[in-house]
Amino acid sequence: MMSRNLIVIGGGAGGPSAAAEAKRSDPTLEVTIIEQGENVSYAA
Ligand SMILES: Cc1cc2nc3c(=O)[nH]c(=O)nc-3n(C[C@H](O)[C@H](O)[C@H](O)COP(=O)(O)OP(=O)(O)OC[C@H]3O[C@@H](n4cnc5c(N)ncnc54)[C@H](O)[C@@H]3O)c2cc1C
Repeated sequence: MMSRNLIVIGGGAGGPSAAAEAKRSDPTLEVTIIEQGENVSYAA
């Protein structure tokens, strides 16, 4: 079966939130976050 890919542009607050939610709703989804800076957002 063909895998589905999601590319999220931006690793601030919104990008990782969207990526996590997409992965929760479909764990088989291949998710890539592209961030232009050196760091992505982190919050516990
Ligand atoms: C001065 C200031 C103080 C703030 N203080 C607080 C606070 O105390 N508490 C709070 O909750 N909120 C605060 N905020 C608001 C908070 O920063 C924003 O609401 C939040 O960061 C928005 O997240 P975002 O993911 O939409 O955008 P951003 O955080 O702007 O993330 C977007 C990301 O996309 C990346 N990007 C953009 N273009 C590209 C590209 N072409 N390719 C790859 N990557 C790209 C950027 O590098 C960036 O990392 C503050 C905002 C400002 C300006």
